Order: sequence, then C-alpha cells, then structure tokens
Amino acid sequence: MVLLGRWSLNVVPCPVCKGTVIGVAIDEDSISNAPRVPVLVPANCKKGHAVILFVDGPFAIRDGEAAGDAAQLEGKKSSLDRA
Ligand SMILES: [Zn+2]
Repeated sequence: MVLLGRWSLNVVPCPVCKGTVIGVAIDEDSISNAPRVPVLVPANCKKGHAVILFVDGPFAIRDGEAAGDAAQLEGKKSSLDRA
C-alpha cells in the first residue's frame, strides 16, 4: 500500500495531450524481477489516451510514449472534432 503511494509521486505528462498520466499501478516485483529494463507498463492519461511508460526500476519512470502512432493520429483528429 505504501508502494502504491510512492508510485503515484512519479507523474509523467501524456505524450499525446500533455495531460497527467494517472492510475499507474506497477507491481514492484514485476520491475525487480524483470529480465531487462526499461519495463514497458501500459497506463492511461486523464483523457483516456493509452500510454506506454518506460520504467527503469522501482519508482523511476524514464519516459512515456503514446501506445501507437495510429492511435495517436486518431486521437489528434478526434480532439479537433471535439473542439
Ligand atoms: Zn492524453
């Protein structure tokens, strides 16, 4: 439970909309026992964009990237439509 709180300190901007990526739930064991790093962890930003986080180790999120180029283009288009 403490670990979840510490993880939540690592906030990365959404690569699509620059919003906040939330709800990152990472099992420390999955990082510690990973055969190699960074570990790719799927997450979602507040607006629902699918984001892949690159995690180097416990509490170290190196970077974030949109889950897919196609999805990213789609997201830009639909956000224009919504605006
Ligand atoms: Zn976003």
